[in-house]
Amino acid sequence: MNCEILAVGTELLLGNTVNTDAADLSVLLSGLGVNVFWHSVVGDNPARLRDAVAVARRRADLIVTTGGLGPTYDDLTKTVLAEAFGLKLVLHQDEADFLRDWFARNGTSPYTDNNLQQAYLPEGCTVFHNDWGTAPGCAFEAGGVHVIMLPGPPRECLPMFKACAAPYIKALSGEVIFSRQIRVFGMGESAIEALFRAEMEHMANPSLATYAKFGEVMLRATAKAPTEAEAEELCRPVVEKVKAALGHRVYGVDVDSLEALCLESMTDRGLTLSAAESLTGGLIGERFTALPGASAVFKGGAVTYCDEVKAALLCIDPALIAEKGAVSREVAEAMAGGVRRAVGADLGLSATGLAGPDGDGVHPVGTVYVGLADKDRVWVRELHLGTGRARVRQAAASHAFDMLRRYLQGLPIETW
Ligand code: ATP
Repeated sequence: MNCEILAVGTELLLGNTVNTDAADLSVLLSGLGVNVFWHSVVGDNPARLRDAVAVARRRADLIVTTGGLGPTYDDLTKTVLAEAFGLKLVLHQDEADFLRDWFARNGTSPYTDNNLQQAYLPEGCTVFHNDWGTAPGCAFEAGGVHVIMLPGPPRECLPMFKACAAPYIKALSGEVIFSRQIRVFGMGESAIEALFRAEMEHMANPSLATYAKFGEVMLRATAKAPTEAEAEELCRPVVEKVKAALGHRVYGVDVDSLEALCLESMTDRGLTLSAAESLTGGLIGERFTALPGASAVFKGGAVTYCDEVKAALLCIDPALIAEKGAVSREVAEAMAGGVRRAVGADLGLSATGLAGPDGDGVHPVGTVYVGLADKDRVWVRELHLGTGRARVRQAAASHAFDMLRRYLQGLPIETW
């Protein structure tokens, strides 16, 4: 099934709002085995929307629209789409009752007649009730094309897609789509693709695709079959093959992130964590504590940016910093051990380095040392992460979590 996502809203063209719906829906649609071949954006203008629909229906057999379902005069998606496919808009009494009720309960703004516009939907459509806002979405088929209409606000669009549109799409194919996400750290997308390219080109069911994500790579194996068990079985050999080829660089299958994997493992084992951060400025702590349940594991940490603070808070000998420099293996070691002891945690992470753009006249920008300490030993990775301040800082934090997961999985820690 080939799909076009058509986002409606002048604010998207003016650049006031980024079209995140298109990106997020693409991920969800490709997870269902739908080929998203086109993204289009059109303003709140009926003539241009009609033109965009005429183009979309010629080339796609599924059109997913976002936005323009609300009660105001510029919310014209339903009117234009219904007209383009020769359908009348009819009142859906259930939705009208819901709207009156909703305004009575959420008494911040009064119910006005134009709100009722939201309850008019194309005749014969499947109604997607909106549990996250007011404007319902819908789906219909006409002239061999399936149309799905979703509200614009992401907090409504995405849950409605998952709850209503995804089951609708799955029912169209009569097949189950199943995918496994293989997470890889320590190897670039092009190197991974080069390993599997010849096979990937000929694979149809299951298929294998690579996605680069914040210094990591995710490979997705997707299969279609009459049942989930059969689709899962089709994916199994592909997952095994990728794991065998990439070895320890595969850190998990169907896990959310390196830090999520670490949190789960540390929670199970009752281990606690701390972090001393220089160039990452708190990013390690931020990424870890963004995870629900982090409080059971993360005891605390310190952002020790300048030499004096490194010495004072982490009890590092100032002479060591003066002799080796703050960006050094020795200081990364002392930071990881120092924070572990200061906080009273089982494990300590550390990161010190040059995020750039200015260097220190000694090391090239991107030189980073990341440390991990337990009560007996300290491990350090020396990294050359290149340029780009934000990228270097994120990559340093990811390396810290990769060292931690390797420690937890009993793998070599300093290599990757
Ligand atoms: P509402 O009932 O809120 O009016 P709607 O379906 O009419 O819903 P719009 O009026 O088009 O949606 O958009 C409402 C808001 O949703 C926009 O101001 C914008 O903040 C957000 N939004 C709309 N489309 C997108 C999009 N494609 N990506 C991200 N955000 C969007």
